[in-house]
Amino acid sequence: MNKIEHIGIAVNSLKSAGNIYEKLLNTQVYKTEEVASEGVKTAFLQNGPNKIELLEASNPDSPIAKFIAKKGEGIHHVAFDVDDIEAEMLRLKNEGFVLLNDVPKRGADNKLVCFVHPKSANGVLIELCQERG
Ligand code: ZN
Repeated sequence: MNKIEHIGIAVNSLKSAGNIYEKLLNTQVYKTEEVASEGVKTAFLQNGPNKIELLEASNPDSPIAKFIAKKGEGIHHVAFDVDDIEAEMLRLKNEGFVLLNDVPKRGADNKLVCFVHPKSANGVLIELCQERG
């Protein structure tokens, strides 16, 4: 586990949240990307080492739509940068964490990702992410 790579925030509207976070961080959204397999549209902002991923549901069955229906907008996950996602997945599995996918999958922003069930981590959804070569 290296540094926190980004914090994911579930929002109703990428456009309005993008405007707010642009003002907050005093920077522009540098990338928007849809991950159809996950039912999300994402927007990224970065200021120095701090990176925020805004997530909007792209369909009513999206995990983001379900999250917002249950908890409202807010912090959705914390993502950690890892060098070797498969080794890290194996290590966490051996430590008793519940992983939400068995093999790394393709995430937004050119990453391989794996999620750790929030029940394993005191209510926080954890994302492991490794830069794709
Ligand atoms: Zn993320």
